[in-house]
Amino acid sequence: MTDLNSLFQNNRSWANAIKAEDPDFFTTLAKQQRPEFLWIGCADSRVPANEIVGLMPGELFVHRNIANCVVHTDINCHSVIEYAVKFLKVKHIIVCGHYGCGGVQAALGHEQLGVADHWIRHIRDVYYNKRKDFKGIDDDKQRVNLLCELNVKQQVANVCHTPIVQNAWSSGQELAIHGWIYDVKDGLLKKLTQTINSIESVREQYRVDGSTE
Ligand SMILES: [Zn+2]
Repeated sequence: MTDLNSLFQNNRSWANAIKAEDPDFFTTLAKQQRPEFLWIGCADSRVPANEIVGLMPGELFVHRNIANCVVHTDINCHSVIEYAVKFLKVKHIIVCGHYGCGGVQAALGHEQLGVADHWIRHIRDVYYNKRKDFKGIDDDKQRVNLLCELNVKQQVANVCHTPIVQNAWSSGQELAIHGWIYDVKDGLLKKLTQTINSIESVREQYRVDGSTE
């Protein structure tokens, strides 16, 4: 079993290295956080948000769950989005998926996992709605990776469908939503969606800002 003392040793080395570069780093940061970005990513241990985009503590507000889902009834995720947009005034929300995602893979299978089945149902729905896109693709890995991409696009749309984001836009707040995907095989990110920064990109059915009345 791993000795947890090594984690505390790592922590001290990390804090000391930062303080060696900037002695005031932690005391300044302790006063206030002003991140420009909200990251909604997968809980997968291979996709550590700050590290892969080279951002320091204080620069990235982070929410992670299985398969980077933004579910309409998830008060946890929506509290994070609201706090980030309304109070921290982040300028960007990034939904970042990753290839080979276990949660997405489970949505293509038929094994019963437990509580997570309810969560993964949302991704199963993405697959069902987009099943025609999978015609002619027999390779299992390709199918998983295609669903990883489609899932990111759906979750980006879900972010745009929230009153929180639409209210920010209608009040003139600068806010852009992005869909990215990360490849655990080479450590690289790729853009999946255009930048979305206004209600015009949201389908009429999902507009709740009064703009179509
Ligand atoms: Zn994942």
